[in-house]
Amino acid sequence: MSRLSEWLHDPTAHAEWAVPAGECCNDAPFTQPTSGYVGFIWGDSFRPGHEHQGIDIFGGDAPGKTPVLAAYAGYLTRLADWKSTVILRIPSDPLLPNRQVWLYYTHMADKNGSAYISPEFPPGSSDVFVQAGTFLGYQGDFSGDPDNPVGVHLHFSIVLDDGQGSFRNELAIENTLDPSPYLGLALNSSQNPGGIVTCITQGDEP
Ligand SMILES: [Zn+2]
Repeated sequence: MSRLSEWLHDPTAHAEWAVPAGECCNDAPFTQPTSGYVGFIWGDSFRPGHEHQGIDIFGGDAPGKTPVLAAYAGYLTRLADWKSTVILRIPSDPLLPNRQVWLYYTHMADKNGSAYISPEFPPGSSDVFVQAGTFLGYQGDFSGDPDNPVGVHLHFSIVLDDGQGSFRNELAIENTLDPSPYLGLALNSSQNPGGIVTCITQGDEP
């Protein structure tokens, strides 16, 4: 937490802590979905009984400034009532090709719910093909409560398919995958208790 505060106080002083959008670590299949400091990782607990089901990347800039990109080629859906969220369907999981997975992106709106999502993807967009690296929008601070916005970041998670062509409930960690091998970063809190996120080589993964 103190490292995150340090980063947010002066990102330029700690540029080496940031992951760069669009780049990949070693031979990982996904590119980084945005730039910034990975402040919270998969499995982090914010309160008793809670486990963080994704990763939070803090751009260190104002809302609406830090671009968010497709981490892999897929098919984008934005439900009609999604102000800050898109999801990408990946028909073939690059690490387990016989299953479909989903990439969930959220907090891409301002505190009042005005979207920072690209106009290419209006509410109601369904299964629109996007290449890896496609611009999706910008990091924001939308929380659902204008009086209590989140710090500006992207929440990104990998969600399991429900077996019927849709995605499972992203809010439960058991419906998500450890993103470490997909992004080539040490993103599993049980294996990285210090939370210092660095590139890993595939041999490091159990
Ligand atoms: Zn998060």
